[in-house]
Amino acid sequence: MATAPTKDPEAISIAAIDLVNSPRVRSETRGEIIEEYANRYLANEKMPPVIVFENEGEPGFLLADGRHRLEAIKSLAPRLPKPPQSVKAIKYPGGYEEALTYALLANDRNGMRRSNEDKRRCVEAALEQWPDKTQKEIAELCGVSQQMISDARAATAEAKNVKGEIQQTYKRLDNESSDDQPKPVKLATPQPTAVKPRDRTKDAPATDSMGCWVPDGVAGYLQMDPEVQKIMTSISALKGFVEKIEAMQSGSNKMWVELNIGSAKADLDRLRANFKTCKSYALCNLCQGHPETQPKAHCTQCLGKGLISEFKWHFVRPEIKKMRELQIQNQRKEKTK
Ligand SMILES: [Zn+2]
Repeated sequence: MATAPTKDPEAISIAAIDLVNSPRVRSETRGEIIEEYANRYLANEKMPPVIVFENEGEPGFLLADGRHRLEAIKSLAPRLPKPPQSVKAIKYPGGYEEALTYALLANDRNGMRRSNEDKRRCVEAALEQWPDKTQKEIAELCGVSQQMISDARAATAEAKNVKGEIQQTYKRLDNESSDDQPKPVKLATPQPTAVKPRDRTKDAPATDSMGCWVPDGVAGYLQMDPEVQKIMTSISALKGFVEKIEAMQSGSNKMWVELNIGSAKADLDRLRANFKTCKSYALCNLCQGHPETQPKAHCTQCLGKGLISEFKWHFVRPEIKKMRELQIQNQRKEKTK
């Protein structure tokens, strides 16, 4: 043990030891060790007392050394008619910091060999508790090389950078709240009922992107295009984020190495194009904005919307497009009369 106990051990209640808040300097407890210790307790072998700190002011003791022994005693419960309720312990004054110091020193010097993972756990716990201690001090406390401390510090700094970068990006996305830069998480669901009806005495009919009049019954969809635009802009923003990740991939930050950038960008492009079909580009060439006039009141072209996307309009036959142009010219003449 690190420090020769200067006090006599005394029995303390096992239930009074606060394992959750005690320092952890092993990455995990090992079953085979617990089993070995349990057998030694069963054989009434003399085992060293565990070390606890009094955790001043707080209820319960903090365990600084003896986690495997304690777990071994606890594991005896189902095997014994009267399982032990107490453990021999040496009590020290002090809180978490003192308990951690003891634990690190004891851990380095007691019998159980440490894995690299255990050593990393020690370094993490020490760096968290004493961010301002020098590399040398931490290395000595943990019984590891200084290189290990500098690696751990670099990894922590890197993790903080990544976290900061992500937070900043989300903050930025959140702040861009103008019409073309919406908050990606706050999208209104388009409600056709919220559309303002046209005052026929004052307002001209709504028109599609080519200037063709649109019947009042379906004109509301035109007013909802900005909602679609917001979704598309959010997807573009996400693509921008993916491009940032792409730049990060070649650096020392390995957080995103497995992300397939090409595929992510292509997915977002496809998603954006998919949503773009919700923008109303042209009056439906088949039902002219009156889907109810079609067989079984169902328009196979606009699917009941009365308007179609640019994508669909692109595939409309040229002679139909020509007719539409004439229709628009006639409407203009009618308006100027
Ligand atoms: Zn239609």
